[in-house]
Amino acid sequence: MANLRFHAVKEALSRKPLEVKISEERPYEYFGRKVFNRERMYKYLPKPIYEKMIDVIDNGARLEREVADEVAKGMAQWAKENGVTHYTHWFQPLTEGTAEKHDSFVEHNGKGGMVEDFSGKLLVQQEPDASSFPNGGIRSTFEARGYSAWDPTSPVFIIDDTLCIPTVFISYSGEALDYKAPLLRALHAVNVAATEVCRYFDPEVKKVTSNLGWEQEYFLVDDSLYSARPDLMLTGRTLMGHDSAKNQQMDDHYFGTIPDRVQAFMKDLEIQALELGIPCKTRHNEVAPNQFELAPIFEETNLAVDHNMLLMSLMKKVARKHGFRALLHEKPFAGINGSGKHNNWSLSTDTGTLLHAPGKTPEQNLRFAVFIVETLMGVYRHNGLLKASIMSATNAHRLGANEAPPAIVSSFLGTQVSEFLDHIERADSDQLSLAGKQGMKMDIPEIPELLIDQTDRNRTSPFAFTGNRFEFRAVGSEANCASAMIALNSAVAEALVSFKKRVDTRIEEIADDPKFAEGTGHTAKFHAIIDILRQDITTCKPIRFNGNGYSDEWVEEAGHRELDTEKSCPRIFENYLNKESVEMFESLGVMTRKELEARNEVKWETYTKKIQIEARVLGDLTMNHIIPVATRYQSQLLVNVENMNSVFPIDKAERLSARNVKIIEEIAERTSTIERQVEELVNARKVANKIGDEHAKAIAYHDTVAPKMEEIRYQIDKLEFIVDDACWPLPKYRELLFIR
Ligand code: ADP
Ligand code: MG
Repeated sequence: MANLRFHAVKEALSRKPLEVKISEERPYEYFGRKVFNRERMYKYLPKPIYEKMIDVIDNGARLEREVADEVAKGMAQWAKENGVTHYTHWFQPLTEGTAEKHDSFVEHNGKGGMVEDFSGKLLVQQEPDASSFPNGGIRSTFEARGYSAWDPTSPVFIIDDTLCIPTVFISYSGEALDYKAPLLRALHAVNVAATEVCRYFDPEVKKVTSNLGWEQEYFLVDDSLYSARPDLMLTGRTLMGHDSAKNQQMDDHYFGTIPDRVQAFMKDLEIQALELGIPCKTRHNEVAPNQFELAPIFEETNLAVDHNMLLMSLMKKVARKHGFRALLHEKPFAGINGSGKHNNWSLSTDTGTLLHAPGKTPEQNLRFAVFIVETLMGVYRHNGLLKASIMSATNAHRLGANEAPPAIVSSFLGTQVSEFLDHIERADSDQLSLAGKQGMKMDIPEIPELLIDQTDRNRTSPFAFTGNRFEFRAVGSEANCASAMIALNSAVAEALVSFKKRVDTRIEEIADDPKFAEGTGHTAKFHAIIDILRQDITTCKPIRFNGNGYSDEWVEEAGHRELDTEKSCPRIFENYLNKESVEMFESLGVMTRKELEARNEVKWETYTKKIQIEARVLGDLTMNHIIPVATRYQSQLLVNVENMNSVFPIDKAERLSARNVKIIEEIAERTSTIERQVEELVNARKVANKIGDEHAKAIAYHDTVAPKMEEIRYQIDKLEFIVDDACWPLPKYRELLFIR
């Protein structure tokens, strides 16, 4: 076995960078080549059909069957010209990743031969045999079948010989079985709510779009080394491994030169991603050794989510071609930074206004204040839910560890925006003491022109304002961004709906109030907005936190503020079913209680399965790899001690063997401790497995199984430190992290 490790190291060291063929064309020329985008639609569809499709995409118009047929025809022609023979409905089930089932275009022609056919019916709807996708019992309680339905707002694309059609995946009774369906509903809700509020400021606004720019972090590990680590292969992370003497102390990896092999991989990945219409922009090293990041330019949220899913699978494929494995797990290695996926999020209008960016005029800045504050209101009211939306068995290793971000959702605004909001809030007392008329006037011209200082950042904040957007940093590297985006857009939609309602009521009150009827120089609408805004600035204050998110004081302080400080992953999921969450999702039409319950079943079950697999792998590796190797080394030492005794006088032999005897004893103690702990681990699992309720079972796994694994790991890492390096069977941290 030890041979395998050294063989792997040798192979890894001998790998050369792959030559990547660079196209003669500029990136903008091959960008989107494999996408049936507007340009292609225009070329391949009759003009009236093209126009109808644009109406469907931009304005959510109904897609008629005849239109779908025509679109399918044009699409198929384009696909065939690009060598495509198959098509698939591409969807995002509640497991990680994406699912697809490929069918070819061929049909019987009725004369014993074949024709190629692709109709609107096949484009629009399919029934994947989906009984094996997680559904939390929905399909057994309701209808047995599920179907996938085309999402025309995300363009069709080609991978190899297959036309991939982005779809939602729902049960026959209409419950969402995926991420995309509730995401589209949440985006619709935030569009409606934000548009209404925008119209206070600009009656021309017809649509508000949610934007997402993700930053994907990942590790690369040499393929051979990866293959010699069963824990990495089976669980995505190392379940054991002593610290490398050097890891990230020197901070010399961040923004350092990108290693050649990695550079070749990145080039290859970017070319393929650009062809698929993913607007890649940034690549660089990350903080930890062998950790990297890729970020595209932000896009409409639904499209950005699809592009992230696509990129993650592309990344894995391209990595293998270059002799690497891409690790998307949030914490593949203990003791060094984990990987996240910052979700940069903002809202913008069809009139070209970025609603989370400050403006030039007082009026624009008031609108800016409204959108900042109502975002905070949503995040404040649903901070526990937002945490649940990014929580997973894997991300739990990263959150709350001593690196970004803590397991409490709070928001950092920076000094300027904080002062700006404080100013608006304080002006309230001026207004009261000055009894109306003049007081009102003085507030607003004072709203300064805001030039947001880009350097004013707080790396520890899970939800930070960064100049013209919020950055939700707690999202896990492996996660589907949709989960966070469903919760965030819904929370903000709800806040905006409530804001609108209260402002409208206030407008009526003011209009009836003779004090406000004249002479303030501002409209009743304006006063009403200011009044409600002030209330909300005060209300959501507990979510604002500018200090050090890693400190213990913050955990205590957050508790006083009644923010959610729960750390246990399965308990955090409970937030999906609390009263506020269910009310919010139901009132916005994003998800029903039934859907939420079913989805939580899936979350708990997934959590349990992940820990279960890890526990099994750890048990196996311990008994089959670690203990035998440690014992063998111990025997060698014993032989040595015996030999010493036979060669030297007893007291001299004792002195010379002292160190070896100490190691022999330590190995004996540690291995017997490990054996006992593994037995306890197995027993804890047995007890947990008997629990029928998924929620209780997940909690048992969290409370009784997971901590045992940490104890075992501690012992193994100590053994790794004392056992002869030549015997150690698993590639060590220094090899995994520094060979590239
Ligand atoms: P950082 O400085 O945090 O590394 P970048 O400037 O590289 O961030 O941008 C990170 C991501 O944020 C990119 O995807 C970028 O397109 C996106 N982004 C920039 N502005 C906005 C915005 N207004 N709304 C949403 N995403 C944005
Ligand atoms: Mg960032």
